[in-house]
Amino acid sequence: MGPDRLAATSGLVAALAALALAIAPAAGAAFEPGAESAHDPIYPQVGNGGYDVLHYAIELDYDPASNRLGAGTRTTITARATQDLSRFSLDFQRELELDSVTVDGVPAARAARRDARPRLSRDPAVTQPAKLTVTPAAGIERGASFTVAVAYRGRPEPIVDPDGSSEGWLRACSAPGDCDGSYTVNEPIGAQSWFPCNNHPSDKASFELATTAPSAYTAIGAGARVSRVDNGDGTATTTWREDAPMAPYLATGTVGRFDVETGAMTDRTGGATIATFTAIDSAGAPARKEEARRAAGRIPALVNFLSRRLGPYPFGTVGVVADWVPSVGYVLENQTKPHFPGTRKGPYVGSSTLAHELAHQWMGDSISPARWSAIWFNEGWATLMEVTLDHAEGARQTPRRYFRTVYRSAPRRWRIAPARLDGDPRQLFNSFVVYNRPGAMLQGLRMILGNDRFRALARDLADRYAGGNIDRPGFLAATKRASGLRGRKLRRLGDYVRQWLLWERRPRLTPADF
Ligand SMILES: [Zn+2]
Repeated sequence: MGPDRLAATSGLVAALAALALAIAPAAGAAFEPGAESAHDPIYPQVGNGGYDVLHYAIELDYDPASNRLGAGTRTTITARATQDLSRFSLDFQRELELDSVTVDGVPAARAARRDARPRLSRDPAVTQPAKLTVTPAAGIERGASFTVAVAYRGRPEPIVDPDGSSEGWLRACSAPGDCDGSYTVNEPIGAQSWFPCNNHPSDKASFELATTAPSAYTAIGAGARVSRVDNGDGTATTTWREDAPMAPYLATGTVGRFDVETGAMTDRTGGATIATFTAIDSAGAPARKEEARRAAGRIPALVNFLSRRLGPYPFGTVGVVADWVPSVGYVLENQTKPHFPGTRKGPYVGSSTLAHELAHQWMGDSISPARWSAIWFNEGWATLMEVTLDHAEGARQTPRRYFRTVYRSAPRRWRIAPARLDGDPRQLFNSFVVYNRPGAMLQGLRMILGNDRFRALARDLADRYAGGNIDRPGFLAATKRASGLRGRKLRRLGDYVRQWLLWERRPRLTPADF
């Protein structure tokens, strides 16, 4: 299905390009540089204008012993120009040395890196995002598809965020000096630490990742494993493909020594068969690995728990990576394969957290935020599903009690609006503002709408936004459609959502007002 779809897409692009050539005025067209920003209110440094990425083909030549990407590492991007382009930019850090940059097979007239603007932080420990600007030998016409191939090598460096967390291509060390590969988690901007990209969730694309690494290692990517070829020199090349559109922050390139199990499950809501994948760090103690394996074994039950509430599982594959990299300190919902970094004692997969990360497959991964200020959408849904699962499994706290507890939180906690975040990247994962306030807002909606209409809301969101992006206005419109409310109550529902997402104080409206 994947290759057919890709062929159909590029055929369509070619047809559109031909059409554009036929109708574009030949002379006088002004070719201009694409914007070097997606104008994100939280991270204006990332994202680029003037083109839309359709597909990433990433080839990594990885040596775990040195944590280096060697010669032969290359990212080939297929994109469509959305304006007459004289120049365009990609997000790509400076640590990796460029070997060549070509556009449609022709060496670029110029390719250079510089700091993205504006400065992200005055703290010298925070990584400043960088741009790779590419001037093709000839301008690219609006509507034309083109490929840009960037060959590079070197040692990727983690990206340190304004909130102090590290992401991107992280070296996987169970203890200092005891390292067995890489652990890749990119949210929000880590992708550019290991491949050049349009690093904004609004530009989603299909991905293919081919990693060459020593044969004893497992190389992991998003989606389905397409092939593993033994190169006869002690290395193997493993190719993964994710055909569903994916934001760069959800890509993974993890390499390590893993105990791997594959299988299949049935999504009883959608009826589809979904391939399963579990990778557990081989270095863990047998009891730890067995515990992680049992937790991962709950994936089919959890997917079915979620699909009853959110609609059919959105992807063709599902799995988990339980690594042993305690320095990371957070779990991430990488598309089709949530990543758990474990604890100091070894690999670890927690059941509620697994439900949270799996809920993201619907809310965040399939339906992605249009900009980082919509991160409340991802975390609100995932938090609510986590609370819902915990209660279903015996926790005293009901979702209703969760709502009341959040609503009673101290006045100072309400000062930052979830959909604005003060424009401050340090607030991106603020636990009250981004997780609990939006989680309670959604639980309140469930109380206002009732379970059936709330489920219909999730389905309606999937129908309209699966594989794409959502923002507050789209969410509000869907909520209104699903509510069945009219007149004053419908307007009040709009006020409810606005107060919970935009007020810089405690909302006045609660489910009791409906
Ligand atoms: Zn989350």
